[in-house]
Amino acid sequence: MKRREFIKQAGITGAATGMAIMSPAAQAKTTIKWKMVTTWPKNFPGLGTGANYLAQLITDMSGGRLQVKVYGAKELVPAFEVFDAVSRGTAQMGHGASYYWKGKSEAAQFFAAVPFGLTAQEMNAWLYHGGGEALWRETYKPFGIIPAATGNTGVQMAGWFNREINSMDDLKGLKMRIPGLGGEVLSRAGGTPVSLPGGEIFTSLKSGAIDATEWVGPYNDLAFGLHKAAKYYYYPGWHEPGTTMEALINEKAFAALPKDLQSIVMNACKIANQNMLSEYTARNNTALKTLVNKHKVSLRKLPDEVLTKLRDLSREVVLELAEKDPQSKKVYESFSQFSKDVKDWSAIAELAYLTIR
Ligand code: CA
Repeated sequence: MKRREFIKQAGITGAATGMAIMSPAAQAKTTIKWKMVTTWPKNFPGLGTGANYLAQLITDMSGGRLQVKVYGAKELVPAFEVFDAVSRGTAQMGHGASYYWKGKSEAAQFFAAVPFGLTAQEMNAWLYHGGGEALWRETYKPFGIIPAATGNTGVQMAGWFNREINSMDDLKGLKMRIPGLGGEVLSRAGGTPVSLPGGEIFTSLKSGAIDATEWVGPYNDLAFGLHKAAKYYYYPGWHEPGTTMEALINEKAFAALPKDLQSIVMNACKIANQNMLSEYTARNNTALKTLVNKHKVSLRKLPDEVLTKLRDLSREVVLELAEKDPQSKKVYESFSQFSKDVKDWSAIAELAYLTIR
């Protein structure tokens, strides 16, 4: 009997021949269940729904062989324990943003948002085709986690202020909710950065406990009702010019998957990455119109003098981050070189086009 006919009659196909693994038929009957813990409230617009989308996509693309169940913040673990939960395998997957994990690795911050850094499109270019993703994997490797970009907000807004910002003096003494590297920049400008989880922002701004806050952009800010707590809405979001969300995947759980499911997981992340950016672009646009036309929000651009100074301070902060440890230095070098290179192209492509159309 010819080999091909034997295989056909024996009911064996392709990849399983000659390999001591489960036949595709047996694999198809096996259901694997994964838990996905998230740093977002369950179903939170854009972010929580982005996690839901990714989980559903993996479940659907695998024909139900890999079923992913999403847990909102606090349902299984608190928001800021997502990284540890995936690292130790309590959950096989997580959904968050890498700047939350600077306590684990300072270098992690480069993979979410850098003040005056890359836009969403440039960030994806660095990650997928500029060496960024390999460095990200290297950064999370000691924790047994594989990271993947899984969404982006696009350029955020500078935030909501209860007073006008006309010069750097107006930032002095300003108590503002602004986390991470952006917060460090504000601090150098004489302000007081405050870290607050999303759920406490509205009340703190309304009561005057803080003078200003950044959150995301019109889509999320409108949902929080921030226009009811502050008068001025400033742009652009210099501190988060295109924040990348991440999927965290437990390395051992991933290694135990057959090759096709591994491919489904990684490619579902890529689809979710693009989908979130598209959603934000579409929803921000309509939400901004509602804020300005219906709620009469005072929309303003930060003065150039302020933005220029914040940019200089940001360079200082990022340079200091690069000096914290060897991995931060390595990631910084790749990130800053890519930024320099891509900026020239962005200027004659996107920028030239956007300013004239
Ligand atoms: Ca933000």
